[in-house]
Amino acid sequence: MSETMKAAMMYGPNDIRVEETEKPACPEDGLILKIMAIGLCGSDIRNLTTDSRKGDYPFIYGHEIVGVVDEVGPECTKYQVGQRLFLHPGTYCMECEACVSGHSENCENEHVAKLAGVGGFAQYIAVGGEKIHYGNIYEIPEGVSYEAASLAEPLTSVYSTMENAKVGFPDTIVIIGAGPIGDFMAQLAKLRGAQKVIMIDINQNRLEMAKQFGVDVIINNTDADPIEEVKKLTNGKGADKVISATPANINQAQAIHMVRKGGLVVFHGGVPKGSLTELDTNLVHYNNIWIKGQFGASYEQSKAAFNLAISPIFPTEKFITHILPLDEINNGIQLIRSGEAIKVVLHPWD
Ligand SMILES: [Zn+2]
Ligand SMILES: [Zn+2]
Repeated sequence: MSETMKAAMMYGPNDIRVEETEKPACPEDGLILKIMAIGLCGSDIRNLTTDSRKGDYPFIYGHEIVGVVDEVGPECTKYQVGQRLFLHPGTYCMECEACVSGHSENCENEHVAKLAGVGGFAQYIAVGGEKIHYGNIYEIPEGVSYEAASLAEPLTSVYSTMENAKVGFPDTIVIIGAGPIGDFMAQLAKLRGAQKVIMIDINQNRLEMAKQFGVDVIINNTDADPIEEVKKLTNGKGADKVISATPANINQAQAIHMVRKGGLVVFHGGVPKGSLTELDTNLVHYNNIWIKGQFGASYEQSKAAFNLAISPIFPTEKFITHILPLDEINNGIQLIRSGEAIKVVLHPWD
């Protein structure tokens, strides 16, 4: 009989069951990673609570994977048993036109991009030789916790947004959405020298928690007009850069009214599939507003994000409000949805 392992299997929207399933076999040219911590991401929650697989279940999600090498195949020479690794889910071919031009975030090689690791809500995951060859796997230095290293993945897109938007001194930044991504952004904006960070959300809990990450002003847009408030805080001019980091169309529409003439608006969060945002494009035109979309990150940026997550200058532990056993994944989802938790990390072996 083959060995089994514990995994959180998705059987349908909101139907996640932690049960025994077959442990993956070690690939000849790859390895088996024993998962020691796995982050619960906003995108996981979206996937786990909607029909994300169009009926194709059961399925194991989870992509913020860290662990220790438990087994290596005979043809795998790069890693040894006992090495602690962070498995970045993004993989780049570094051969296509986009990769060669320095924009690996737009890698055109779908096969390689799909080597991205999911299946982390489990005790083990198999890592094939191709993934090892293309890389974006990092060794966790001694003294850095598995939990801290797991934040490298959600930090990746944040890092690229901050870098591509050239956030720094003396910017006034508006971040719409005080979820973990918004909180990461606030902290990184401050590290990069932004002068003022304004955070907008509808959840007072989240806003209060955001204050510890360098947020200067919080605005609850259920009881105040966020556009008016931002104008007041910027001498009527608007902020230098406004980042919409929520799944709401309304926030994208509002963002262009909060930015100054010549300012930059970034759409960082995806909105419901198929939905359209109504924008005052004359305002965009006459005020010289630039709008940029941001998804993912380049190879270089994902590497930098890992280095940030494991660096003492970034207070990763402050973001992790809950460490739960994998069995409590449903509880973790609730904690994030209610705004009680910032970042939930699951332990498959507790
Ligand atoms: Zn994630
Ligand atoms: Zn490529």
